[in-house]
Parts: sequence; C-alpha cells; structure tokens
Amino acid sequence: MKELRNYVAGQWLGSTKTFEKRSPFDGSLVALVHEADRAMVDTAVDAGRATALGQWGSLAIARRVAILRDLSARLKARVDDLIAAEVMDTGRSYWQARNFDGMRAIGVIDAYCDLAMGLENRSSTFAVEGGARGFWYTVRRPKGVIACIAPWNVPLLMMLLKAAPALLMGNAVIAKPSEETPSSCTLLAEIISQTDIPKGAFSMLHGHGANSTGELLTSHPGVDAVMFTGESSTGGAIMKSAANGLRDVAFELGGKNAAIVFDDAEMDRTIEGMTRAAFFNCGQICFCTERAYVHRNRFDEFVARLSDAARKIVIGQREHEGFSIDPLISQGHRDKVMGLLATIEQDGGTIVQGGGIPVFDDARSRGSFVQPTIAIGLPETARFIKSEVFGPVIHIRPFDEEEEVIALANDSQYGLATSIWTNNVSRAHRVAPQIRVGHAWINSWQVRDLQSPLTGAGLSGIGEQFGRSSLEFCTQPQTITVRVFEQ
Ligand code: NAD
Repeated sequence: MKELRNYVAGQWLGSTKTFEKRSPFDGSLVALVHEADRAMVDTAVDAGRATALGQWGSLAIARRVAILRDLSARLKARVDDLIAAEVMDTGRSYWQARNFDGMRAIGVIDAYCDLAMGLENRSSTFAVEGGARGFWYTVRRPKGVIACIAPWNVPLLMMLLKAAPALLMGNAVIAKPSEETPSSCTLLAEIISQTDIPKGAFSMLHGHGANSTGELLTSHPGVDAVMFTGESSTGGAIMKSAANGLRDVAFELGGKNAAIVFDDAEMDRTIEGMTRAAFFNCGQICFCTERAYVHRNRFDEFVARLSDAARKIVIGQREHEGFSIDPLISQGHRDKVMGLLATIEQDGGTIVQGGGIPVFDDARSRGSFVQPTIAIGLPETARFIKSEVFGPVIHIRPFDEEEEVIALANDSQYGLATSIWTNNVSRAHRVAPQIRVGHAWINSWQVRDLQSPLTGAGLSGIGEQFGRSSLEFCTQPQTITVRVFEQ
C-alpha cells in the first residue's frame, strides 16, 4: 500500500492519523495519506521563518532563478510520473493530463523565472529642506512564510502558480494540496528535496481544511500571507483567520460564468468553444460556463447543436486520445452535483440532454461519473442558476436585446469570467468591459497567456494574480532613503 507522508523542513514525517485517497475512476484505493498535526505545522513555520529571514531570503534573485530553473528541469525529467499521479488522483484521461497538466504546469516555473529577472526597483532624487539633497530607492524583501493552499481540479498547476513566485521572491512556502489530490504535490516535494532549495524553504503538509491542517496553517500567527484557490466560502473562512494579525491574502475563488452568443456568431466555432467551456475537465474548471444566453434567432439551433455535441462526448476512457468526460473528483462532489440537477425540474426547468449517471458494466460503476447535462427554461432566480455547480452542466436561455443580456450576465454574486461570441467587433469591445468579471474572452474560451493578470469580482476573488502580479504579492517592498550632505 502506497503511503503519502508530510515533508517538513527536510524530513518525511508520518502521522498517527491517516485517511484514504480513492480513485474517482473506479473507487480503488490510491494511497493512505498521513494528516499533518499541529506540531508539524509549528515545525514547518519555524523552519520557514528562519530560512526566509536568513539565507534563502537574502540570496541574489539571479541565484534563486537558477535554482528554480534546475527544479523545472528535474520536474520535466519526471513529467510522466507527475502525469500518472494526476491520472490516479483525478481519474482523468492520460491525454488530458498530458495536455492540461504535465508540461503546462511545469512551464509556470519558467515563465515566473523570466519575469523575475526583469523586475526593476524604483528610485528618485529629491530636495531636502535647507538646500540639501536626498535620494531614495526601493528593494524587495520577501514577505516571510507563505501558505499555498490548492484545490483538486488542476492540482500541480494550481500549486506551482503559488509556490513558484513565492520561492522566487525569497519566501518560505508551506504547501497544502487538496485532500482529494495529494499525490503530485508529494512528488513535487520529493523533487524539491533534490535541489538546492534550502530544507526550511519548502514544506508540504497533507490534510483536510476546516478543523484540520488547512485551518491550523492559516490561523498560525507565524504565517505571513495565504495564497489560496478554492471555494468562495472557504476564502471567507481563511480571511477570518488571516484577519488575526492582519495577514495578507490572495484568493482565486468560484464562478458562475455566463457566455453570450449574439445572432451573428459563427456557429461552428461557437459550438466547438462552448462544448469545451461547458464540459472540459467534467466542468471542474473555475472558468467553465454554466449559463449561456443565446440570441432568440439562434436559440433553437444552439440548443440542438450543443446537445448533439454533448451526446457525442466520450465518457470515462482513460486511454482515449482526445476530448472526453472523466469522473467528477469524488462521490461526495457527485452527490452535490446530482442534488443541484434535481432542482432543475422542481424550479420549472427542463433537462434536454443528460441529467443522469452513465451506466457501466465494469469497475467504472464504482466511479463518480455524471452525464454532460443541458437544461433550459429556468427562471433567473432558480437554485441551479444562482449556485456554482462545478460539474458538466449548462443552462441556456434566449435573449432579445444587448442591454438585456448584459444585465442577465451581471446578475450574479460571482464575477470571474465570460465569453462573448459575435462577428461584430464594435459590439464585442462595447459589451466586454460592461460585464463585471476578471476575464472576458471574445470568440474563445480559456485561451490564456499566464503573464496576463487574473482577478475576480464579487465572490470570485481578492487581489490580482499571475505574472508580475503574483511576484509583487510575494514581495514586501522597502524604501531606503539617503541624505547627501554637501560637505
Ligand atoms: P475548497 O475550498 O473545498 O478547498 C480548497 C483547499 O482549501 C483544499 O486544499 C482544502 O483542504 C482547503 N481548505 C478547505 N477549508 C479550509 C479552511 N477552513 N482553512 C484552510 N484551508 C481550507 O475548494 P475545492 O473544492 O478544492 O476546489 C473547487 C473550487 O475551487 C471551486 O469553487 C472552483 O471554482 C474554485 N477554483 C477557482 C479558481 C480560480 O482561478 N478562481 C481556480 C480553480 C478552482
């Protein structure tokens, strides 16, 4: 039986408390995971503080970049193992893990290294009272110990988006992967232990969130900042912990993203893009579209064509080379998704495609699969329209006027992303800035340059992340002022 332990300041530590990680593909046991306790959190924080405020934090940036580039090379050499870890934990196909996780996740380190080398400091001269002169310049100090808490949907990528900038800027990282996806981060810790990153600068702790490792970490007074991706309600809980000691937070949270399809949209490309937007990663991407507003002239055509595309999606074939639907992350998450699907008819809607659990006559019947599902006819007040489902589901509603659809798209407490499908350039650029979201795509979905910033309005996030923004978040700027005496 595989056992996953905690990596604490250079040591692999087991715990008396363990939990099972089971595959969502067929329910088989993947590993026994050792949950970190308070003593491990204390040790990781103490070692982290000593390293960030000492040797690691004061290294020249070029040296830390060289060490992180070495980490990137070592991860690339082990990419097949990292992909296998994601496949086991998430149940996704090898094709998807190769194309969506794998090298793409590791590439984040290279992108941050390039950016870190180009970071400039500021300086200026000024007149001091009495005719003397002064000048000042800024330096970048590390923030200290940064807790990096990741969700399960894209495990390694979500962790590296936080840990890479934090380490590059001289901080100590305490990584907590999701309890649902502990394997790739354990491998990351193993590979980090072979680099020149000092032992205290990276610890990795397993465990759950509330009343467990996650909460112990975020409430620890020695943690200087929290970088977190996950549910909006978890963000709220972490913010309360972080308020004690006024510690900084950067959050990427949930979404209830709307797509807008105008009557002049190029329908082949729109259907291709919207199929991915609704169903990619079984709908478990924060940017996935769960609400589509389609101009009345194209509504019937859009519903028919998206339903046809959904019917043709391959479900649950690990070796399939191409787009497919894999299981949801767990039986518990499937119960939540099925519960929200059950509200569709109660609230006056109709399911026109899917809505159930696919039938298998093999081990996959113990997995947590759900059919790609399309619904119509719900009022905007319906539970399905208001809640983030985080599954392969979409509701489609017709609209008539531009002003009307902008109001519909904005009628959400979330504000993460939108996509706008039209051939009218002026309309696309007129409408996009009117949607209260952090990212608007035009005639595309999830086409991303990781150097572009990500923010979320409302319940979807706090702060600006990715690219230069994450490097800035992981920095404590300091101004040094000098007075020049005339003689
Ligand atoms: P989650 O909030 O349940 O858990 C995320 C992480 O937080 C896990 O590691 C968990 O153990 C930890 N955690 C939970 N409660 C905690 C607490 N009280 N204190 C400290 N840590 C705690 O989220 P999830 O179910 O893993 O991920 C799915 C969610 O993530 C969805 O809402 C999705 O929209 C969101 N997400 C957002 C983005 C984005 O960029 N905005 C990206 C990916 C996922």
